[in-house]
Order: sequence, then C-alpha cells, then structure tokens
Amino acid sequence: MPFPDLADRLAEVRGRIADAARRGAGQQVTLVAVTKTHGAEAVRAVHALGARDVGENKVQEALPKMDEAAVPVRWHLIGHLQRNKAKAVERFALVHSIDSLRLADAVSNVGAALGRRIPVLVQVNVSGEETKGGFSPADLAAGVERIVAMKGLDVRGVMTMAPFDAPERTLRGVFTGARGALETLRGGGLPDARELSMGMSGDYEIAVEEGATIVRLGTVLFGARGT
Ligand SMILES: *Cc1c(COP(=O)(O)O)cnc(C)c1O
Repeated sequence: MPFPDLADRLAEVRGRIADAARRGAGQQVTLVAVTKTHGAEAVRAVHALGARDVGENKVQEALPKMDEAAVPVRWHLIGHLQRNKAKAVERFALVHSIDSLRLADAVSNVGAALGRRIPVLVQVNVSGEETKGGFSPADLAAGVERIVAMKGLDVRGVMTMAPFDAPERTLRGVFTGARGALETLRGGGLPDARELSMGMSGDYEIAVEEGATIVRLGTVLFGARGT
C-alpha cells in the first residue's frame, strides 16, 4: 500500500488540530490534504481514510488527477492561477489564490458565463515577502469595493502563507494580519466572509490557535516531496 503511515499521520494531525482549536476560538477546521507532486493514489488513499478535501497548486497537474483519482472529494486550488487558465475554476470547490484584481475579474467572468458564483478566497501577502503573491493589506482595503461588486464571485474569506521557518512571533503576526484582512472584507461589504485558510505543515497548530478555519497540509501527511 502506498503511504503506509498515512492513517497514523492523519489521526495524529486531526488530534493536534482539535487541540489547537480548543486553545483557539473553538472553531471548526477543514483539513485540506495537499497532494501536489503525488499521484492519484495519494488522493484515493486520503479519501479511503475519510478526508474529503484535497488541494493542488497547479491546474495542469490537478485536472488529470481529478479524472484519474475518480473519488468524490472537494478539490481546492491553492496555487497561483494564470488568467488564461481561469476557465478551470469550474472544476474546483474553492479557489484559495485570488491574488490580484485582474485575476478576480477573470474568474468572476467565468462565473458569470456559467450563471453562478465561483467560491473563492482572497490571497493576502501579510509579510510583504516578494516571492509570495497576494494583496498587501493596504491594496485589499483599496480594492475591496471592486471585489464586492464582482457578480461571478462568492468571496468566502482570506488565504495567506506565512514565511517558511519563521519564529513563532512572526508567524502569529502574519496570522493576525490575515484576520485583519478578513475584517477588511467583512466591513467592506462581505459580512458573511468567514474562512481563514492558513497553516501548512510547519505552522498549522499556531495557525489554528490564531483562528484558521482551513489548513493546507502536504508534507506532514505524505512525507517530503521529491524534487
Ligand atoms: C504546497 C503547499 C502547501 C502544503 O505545504 P506543506 O508544507 O507540504 O504542508 C500549502 N499551501 C500551499 C499554497 C502550497 O503550495
């Protein structure tokens, strides 16, 4: 069987998430199993263990894997989406990576053409790292009115990535900043936005303590990714 420790790892992670949520706001937390670089067998393996949310960072990797895995899971797009691939959003349950007004517009147009609203999160770059995409908190505040007006989007909240291996104080600062960005959305005309997608293998317990409602976990479930 591929991923022999997966059942134990998943059980341990679920326990740690529940404990962290108790230390946090007592919130419900959705675990997105990030299967990027792994084959469809990783999707089938987590599905068999009860996971129902799977994350991929590239459209061109995700679409064939969806067909090959052929199990009923919700697919999350967690990586940067090029505008010329925006049509693919129709295959995802949630797009975490709306990182510019131009992409928001392109995805909204896809929704409008389909006659529905595409569920999305707005990606925020709290730390200001140049290698990370997303709205700065100030750009989000300036753009929220335009986002709210987009008829083909169902904006459910915010996604962020913290710097890798940063000290705890820095991580908490980033996650607090993401909560602030969620308040920007809520106060800007999206009072029902409530999702905070934050927390990866190295920082998910801190993220949940800081209010994460969605964590995106790869390495801690499947082991290190090959290069
Ligand atoms: C790869 C990836 C993850 C998962 O990272 P791990 O450290 O392996 O848990 C989470 N979020 C995004 C956006 C990713 O690209």
